[in-house]
Amino acid sequence: MTHIAFREDDLALEVDYVVVGSGAGGATAANALARGGATVALIEAGPWRDPADYPSSTYGAMRDLFDGWGVGIAKGRALWPIVQASCVGGTTVINCAICVRTPEDVLLGWERDLGVGAKAWREGLWKHQEALEVELCAEVVPAASAGRSNLLAAKGAAAVPYDGHPMTRYVKGCAGSGQCLQGCKQLKKQSLNLQFVPEVMALGGTVLSCAPAERVLLEGRRAVGVTGRFREPVTRRKGGRFTVRARKAVVVAASVTRTAPLLAASGVKHPLLGAGFRAHPGTGVIGVYDEDVDMNVGATQGWASVQYRVEPGMKLETLSIPPEMIASRLAGAGAELVARMGDYRRMAMWVVAVRAEAVGRVKRGVFGEVSVDYGFADADMRRLRKGLALLARTHFAAGARRVIPGIYGLPYDLGPDQVGLIEEGPLDPRAYILISSHLFGGATMDRDPARGVCDEYGRVHGYEGLVVADASVIPTTLGVNPQHTIMALARTFAGRLLDA
Ligand SMILES: Cc1cc2nc3c(=O)[nH]c(=O)nc-3n(C[C@H](O)[C@H](O)[C@H](O)COP(=O)(O)OP(=O)(O)OC[C@H]3O[C@@H](n4cnc5c(N)ncnc54)[C@H](O)[C@@H]3O)c2cc1C
Ligand code: SF4
Repeated sequence: MTHIAFREDDLALEVDYVVVGSGAGGATAANALARGGATVALIEAGPWRDPADYPSSTYGAMRDLFDGWGVGIAKGRALWPIVQASCVGGTTVINCAICVRTPEDVLLGWERDLGVGAKAWREGLWKHQEALEVELCAEVVPAASAGRSNLLAAKGAAAVPYDGHPMTRYVKGCAGSGQCLQGCKQLKKQSLNLQFVPEVMALGGTVLSCAPAERVLLEGRRAVGVTGRFREPVTRRKGGRFTVRARKAVVVAASVTRTAPLLAASGVKHPLLGAGFRAHPGTGVIGVYDEDVDMNVGATQGWASVQYRVEPGMKLETLSIPPEMIASRLAGAGAELVARMGDYRRMAMWVVAVRAEAVGRVKRGVFGEVSVDYGFADADMRRLRKGLALLARTHFAAGARRVIPGIYGLPYDLGPDQVGLIEEGPLDPRAYILISSHLFGGATMDRDPARGVCDEYGRVHGYEGLVVADASVIPTTLGVNPQHTIMALARTFAGRLLDA
C-alpha cells in the first residue's frame, strides 16, 4: 500500500495511468483501472482525513474538508456559493450519498442531440450502476434512522398530495446522526476514501495527497504525465515537486470547477473548454412546528420527490443542517437572532434543487481560485418560486405553524394563508441565497469535436491519451443527484481505456 502525503523532496514516478482528483469520478476510474491490472497513481490536491478526525462542526468541515473553505462563487446578477470538497475521496466525503440512476430520458436526449450514448453504451452505464449499488451498499434509509424531519415531509407530501419516497443512499446501516456534511464518523456512509481508494492501494497503486496538479504534461498532442507541487493543507506552504509519467493515459477528474482550468493551464486548446457549466442550485424553506422536530437527529437527507423533475424542472428534498448553519439562514442579529435560534429544535428544513436552464462558464480565477460566470434565467426564477411555494404548502400540510422563506423583501415568517407571497416573490436573484452542489460541464461530451470537448468515452477531441472522467463531461442537467451517473461514466471510460 503506498500513500505519499506532503513532503519536501521532489518525487518522480512512472505508471500506466495517472488519475488527477480522487472524488466520485477520479476514485472510480482509478479503481476500475487498478482492478483491470494496470498500475495507477491517484493524485489528490487535498489531504487524507481519517474518519476519526472528521470535524463535528460546519466550521471544522469548511476548514478541513471543503475546497477553499467553501467560498467558491458563481457570479451573475447575484453571487451564489458553490460547495465542493478537497480531500481524498473528494465531495463523496461531505455529500449525503444519495444514489439515483441516470434517468432514461436524459440519456435518450444525449443520443438524439449530441450523438453520445447509443443503446449498448446506455445499457453498459446502467449495468455499472447496478454493480455500484451492490458494492457501495445502496440502501433505502432505514425507518429507525429516518428522523422526524423526513417523516414529516412524507406526511406533508401525501396530504398536498404529490409523490415522494425515502431516499436510497450508499450507506450501510445509517445510524441517523445527521452528520453527513461533516463526514460520517460512524463509517456508515460509503464515501470513496473508505471504499475505492484503499482498494487502489491494495492493488499496488500509489496515492499522492496534498498534491495539486499544476499541469498535464503534453508532448505534441499526446498527454504523457502530470506535474505539480506538494502543498501543506493548513499553512498552504509549498513542498517538493512531483512528476508522474503516464505510459498509457492521463485521466483528469478534478471536478467541474477545476478540470477545465487545469486543462487550459496545460495548453489544451478547445474553444469550448470551460463552457457549458450547468447546475441544480437550491435553497430551503424552514417550517416551524409546535413540537420538537430535532432535524439533526436522523438521516441528513432521507426523503425526496422527483415528481416535478421534468416539468417544471426541480427536485424536492429534506436537508437537515446543524444550528450554526441555520443561524446563517435566519435574518436578524444579536438578541433577535438568538431568540429566533431558540426555535431550532422545532424547525425542519426542506429544499428545492432547480433543474436550471441557465448555462455558464468556468474560468481560471486570477489567483487560481474557483471562478464561474453563471446567472439564472427568468424561467429558472419562476421554477424556484414554484418549488419554494410547494415546500411551504408541504410544511403546512404536515402541521407547521409557520414557515421561514428566507427571501429578501418578504416578512421573516409566513402563515398558511400567505404562501401566495412566495409564489409572487421577487424575480431578482439577489433576493435569494442559492447554493450549488450539483455541477455539470466545462468539458462536455459531444460526438462532434466542434460542439464538445470530449467524446462519449471522455477522450479529449484532438488529443491522445487524455481523458476527462468527472462531472465536467456531463452535457446537460440530470434533474437528479449526480454521483451515480458520474461514477458509472468513470467506469465506462476506464473500461474503454483498458480495452484499447
Ligand atoms: C454538500 C453536498 C452534498 C451532495 N450530496 C450529494 C448526494 O447525496 N448524492 C449525489 O449524487 N451527489 C451529491 N452531491 C454532488 C456530488 O458529490 C458531486 O456531484 C460529485 O462528487 C462530483 O464528482 P467529481 O468527481 O466531479 O468531483 P469531486 O467529487 O468534487 O472530486 C474532485 C476532486 O479533485 C480534487 N482536485 C481538484 N483540483 C485538483 C488538482 N489540480 N490536482 C489534484 N486534485 C485536484 C479535489 O480536491 C477533489 O477531491 C453533493 C455535493 C455537495 C457539495
Ligand atoms: S446520517 Fe450519520 S450515520 Fe447516517 S450516513 Fe450520515 S453521517 Fe453517517
